[in-house]
Amino acid sequence: MKEIITLCICCLLISCSTTAQQEQKWPPELTEVWEPEPKVVTGATAQKPPSDAIVLFNGSGLEAWKNAEGGPAGWKINSDGTMTVVKGSGPIFTKEKFGSCQLHIEWKTPDEIEGEGQGRGNSGVFLQNRYEVQILDSYQNRTYSNGQAGAIYKQYPPLVNAMNPTGSWQTYDIIFTAPEFNADGMKTRSGYITVLHNGVLIQNHSELQGTSEYIGLPKNIAHGDDGIQLQDHGNPTSFRNIWIRKL
Ligand code: MG
Repeated sequence: MKEIITLCICCLLISCSTTAQQEQKWPPELTEVWEPEPKVVTGATAQKPPSDAIVLFNGSGLEAWKNAEGGPAGWKINSDGTMTVVKGSGPIFTKEKFGSCQLHIEWKTPDEIEGEGQGRGNSGVFLQNRYEVQILDSYQNRTYSNGQAGAIYKQYPPLVNAMNPTGSWQTYDIIFTAPEFNADGMKTRSGYITVLHNGVLIQNHSELQGTSEYIGLPKNIAHGDDGIQLQDHGNPTSFRNIWIRKL
């Protein structure tokens, strides 16, 4: 038995070194891939989205958005190129539907601290109108961890709390992989969300358990592309510079 094991190890070592010797003889070009060539895109700056992004809000208007009934979005556009939730006007949705995407969004909770826990600057960004990345003033404001800013609501707390102080602008850069369903309505691939909050990784390819639910467990009802929703939770949270890239 001992001899057989020794023989196997010897064979393995010989085959490994033979492969290594063969590889050394290869021209370096053998492992180069030239096609397809990645498309040229101009990167984002603080003032400008990447050249291939779809601008969802840049301060000039709410043309890309609608309310729940399909009418004009009722949020307030401010003179400084931002917009603010109007309490009671309801959530707003992008007119265009999206699947997997990269989403950049900047948000700010009210300067004046009002309320606590879930009642302070609450809003949210829902991918495909179903999967919420929580927006909340989580600067020195404790609430349940899977409901604080950057949580995938009621599923995953953020890895860290990367909040800037109350009243400061915050950024989310979200990478969303849409879930997939077959013709029978069964989920065949989970969705995934990665989030950088103010440049800090707070969700690392988190596997969606299903929809974000306030009460009860996540649901997995088949759906296709859908709009991005921003939540009216009754707090005057503001937004600016929102753009998206389809993946
Ligand atoms: Mg919310």
